[in-house]
Amino acid sequence: MSAPRKNNLSGSDMPADGADRPTREEAEAAVRVLLRWAGDDPRREGLLDTPGRVVRAYEEFFAGYTQNPHDILARTFSEVQGYDEMIVLKDIRFESYCEHHMVPIIGRAHVAYLPNKRVVGISKLARLVDAFAKRLQIQEKMTAQIADTLNEVLQPLGVGVILEAAHQCMSTRGVHKAGVSMVTSRMLGSFRDDPSTRREFLAIVGNQNAFSVSNT
Ligand SMILES: [Zn+2]
Repeated sequence: MSAPRKNNLSGSDMPADGADRPTREEAEAAVRVLLRWAGDDPRREGLLDTPGRVVRAYEEFFAGYTQNPHDILARTFSEVQGYDEMIVLKDIRFESYCEHHMVPIIGRAHVAYLPNKRVVGISKLARLVDAFAKRLQIQEKMTAQIADTLNEVLQPLGVGVILEAAHQCMSTRGVHKAGVSMVTSRMLGSFRDDPSTRREFLAIVGNQNAFSVSNT
């Protein structure tokens, strides 16, 4: 977890680097404090290895902080035989973490763009979603970050991003409403200005009614 971090549009999300970053031992000690706060005894057998496991899990949950979303999209292809239609990757499952409660946000992303001569490998769109999902997030910000990064790096004619997700901070605590999903979208360029482009995108992701009133 010590990959060099470059400045990018999400630089303000980057954690303290180098000397400011706590050690693994400090992070494990903090987990022991939370176990005690929950009312348990971190010295009992079943919990002895838990702090180490939690800290390793955090490395997976928050792997996005070590990824530069711009680099993910850096390699593009221009030999596309004049292909100039919409490119859509739909139903990209993501797991993110609510920045207010640090509990999972689990959902699907639909990411589309109208290329301007250059395209990117489709797996890169899924990696872009993960680079922003694997951080502490709010869904609105994550939606904007995915769309804006795609727009800045590829400079396509338009970008559409829709996220649908269930927030465990709503289902397992607070108002305790399960089965509720939140939908956010960001439409840029032709997806914003051209109703037929937006309609085509919404038809492809299969939820025209839900998204007929689009925001930005
Ligand atoms: Zn929350």
